[in-house]
Amino acid sequence: MAASASGRQAWRQLVRNSSCRGSAATPSNLLRQQQQQRQFAFPRHASSFSRHPVTPPPSSLLRQQPLAQRSYSSGSQGGGQNTPPPPRGSKSQIKFWPFLLIIALGSGGYMLLVNRRKDMPRTKPTPAFSPSEVTVLFVLGGPGAGKGTQCARLVRDYHFAHLSAGDLLRAEQDRPGSQYGQLIRDCIKNGEIVPMEVTVALLENAMRDTIARTGTKKFLIDGFPRKMDQALKFEEVVCPARLVLFYDCPEAEMERRLLERGKTSGRADDNAESIRKRFRTFVDTSMPVVHHYEAEGRVVKVDSTPPPDKVYADTQEKLRQALGDKF
Ligand code: UDP
Ligand code: MG
Repeated sequence: MAASASGRQAWRQLVRNSSCRGSAATPSNLLRQQQQQRQFAFPRHASSFSRHPVTPPPSSLLRQQPLAQRSYSSGSQGGGQNTPPPPRGSKSQIKFWPFLLIIALGSGGYMLLVNRRKDMPRTKPTPAFSPSEVTVLFVLGGPGAGKGTQCARLVRDYHFAHLSAGDLLRAEQDRPGSQYGQLIRDCIKNGEIVPMEVTVALLENAMRDTIARTGTKKFLIDGFPRKMDQALKFEEVVCPARLVLFYDCPEAEMERRLLERGKTSGRADDNAESIRKRFRTFVDTSMPVVHHYEAEGRVVKVDSTPPPDKVYADTQEKLRQALGDKF
C-alpha cells in the first residue's frame, strides 16, 4: 500500500513537471521527455550551444554538427582534445559558408548549362543555296489570280526558271510508287495545304535539277509558300527569298476565271466546291504569309484584275523599281 502510495506521488510529480511544457502525461510522452533531457546534456559540452543553454537546439543541427566539424573546420584533422575551439564569432560561418558555396557553385553551373543550351538552336542550318548566288522570287496570289500566266512571260523575257508548287505536287501525286500520292490527292481536292516537308523537298530537288541541267540560278516559285511554316522552313533550309511578287485580285473575278478554266483544265479542284475551300484556305492561311513579308518590306504588290498585258506591264515596272533594270 505504502509502496503504491509513494509510486502515485512520484507519478504526480512527473505529471506536474511534464505539464508545464504543455504535453499530456502519457507514458510515451514521458519517455520522449527523458530522451530530450538526455539530448540537452550534449550541447552543454558542445561549444556551439553553450551560449544558449536554455533553448533546445533543433535535432537536425545536433546531427549536422559533428559532420561539419569533421569536414570543414581547419586544423581539426587530428580531431583530438588538443584542437583549439573555433573562435566564438566565427561559429555560424563555419557551419553555413560551405553550403552557400556549394549552392552558389551549383547554381552557377546550372545557369552555364542553360545558357549553353539556349545557344544551341541559334546555330541554324545553312540553306542549301546561297542568296548571293541564287535568286528566288516567291509568286503569291489567290487561286485564279493569274500567277501562272505572268510567270510564263517573266520566263520568256528574263530567263527565270518557273517552278509551280502545285504542278510539282500534281506530278508527285501521279508518279507511280509515290508514298505521298493519296495524301496529295486528298489535300488538293479539299483545297488544303500538303504537309510542308513534302513540298519543300520537291522544290529543293527541282531547283538542284534545274541548276544541274540548265545552269539557271533565277527562280520564280509560284503558289508557294502558302503557309507560314512553309515560308520559314524553305528560307531556313533551301534559300532565303529576294522578294514576294503578290497578285491581288477580287474573289469574284478569281472565281469567274477558275470556273472558265475548269471547262478545259481537267483539274480536280477547278469546281465550285473546291474553289470555295481554296478561297477559305487562301484567306485564313496564305494571306498571313503575305502580311509577314509585307511587314519585312519584301512584297511587290500588283493589281491583277486588269487583262494580262496590263498586269504584265505593271509587273515589269514594279520589279524594275525593286530589283533594278537587270533583274
Ligand atoms: N498546294 C499545296 N501547297 C503548295 C502549293 C499548292 O498544298 O505550296 C496544293 C493546294 O491544295 C492548292 C493546290 O495545290 O489548292 C493547287 O495549287 P496551284 O498553285 O496549282 O493552284 P493555283 O493557285 O494556281 O490555282
Ligand atoms: Mg497556278
